[in-house]
Amino acid sequence: MRTALISDIHSNLEALSRVLDRIDQLGVDRIVCLGDLVGYGPFPNECVELVRKRCGAVIKGNHDAGTIEDLPLTHFNNDGRSAIRWTQERISPENADFLRNLPLLQVLDGMTLTHATPVDPASWDYIFSPSDIRKCFKHFTTPLCCIGHTHIPLVAGEDGKVHAIQSGRRALINPGSVGQPRDGNPRASFGLFDDATQQFEIIRVTYEIDVTADAIRKAGLPEALAKRLSLGI
Ligand code: ZN
Repeated sequence: MRTALISDIHSNLEALSRVLDRIDQLGVDRIVCLGDLVGYGPFPNECVELVRKRCGAVIKGNHDAGTIEDLPLTHFNNDGRSAIRWTQERISPENADFLRNLPLLQVLDGMTLTHATPVDPASWDYIFSPSDIRKCFKHFTTPLCCIGHTHIPLVAGEDGKVHAIQSGRRALINPGSVGQPRDGNPRASFGLFDDATQQFEIIRVTYEIDVTADAIRKAGLPEALAKRLSLGI
């Protein structure tokens, strides 16, 4: 079974649409979304509706939780907070209900899915260092654990080191961010996992960054949220 993993869309409809186009070309069996459908960007309802239509499993991210008042706004930096307030004023009741009902963690066919960390999903801690990575492995039992949140692609083993998935060994993977990549590469990022071959691949997709950046400015969202997209930070 071939699974496309998408995460951290952040209301970037242009990026999500191009990623879904590529996924359709690849002909995957299912799409899994690891959270943060909304926040930062200008098209929250459109993105939630596309995810509802296209994804077989969807996890709640911290920006989704903030939007439905599951998480206090003090959790976010100034720009993040402004964007969440903006989103709260515009999200439809039906889409808000969808976000409210999302799980923080789900186990699906040998994959543990969560947004931030399997150690304590509601802590919203970030997994960056080898010791953070090693700690995660004590908190899932499946062959794979799939996370998002840092917006930086990752494939790591139980030793805390970054390397490709090795057959018979457990792995922690992060497909990177669709709507706000932060690894210095501004192209939209997603992951493709084939459980027959145990191959995991990070795929980058070009999209019209200016379309999203202009819509951010037009919406009156913070300028920094427009600027960072072309820098990939
Ligand atoms: Zn995010």
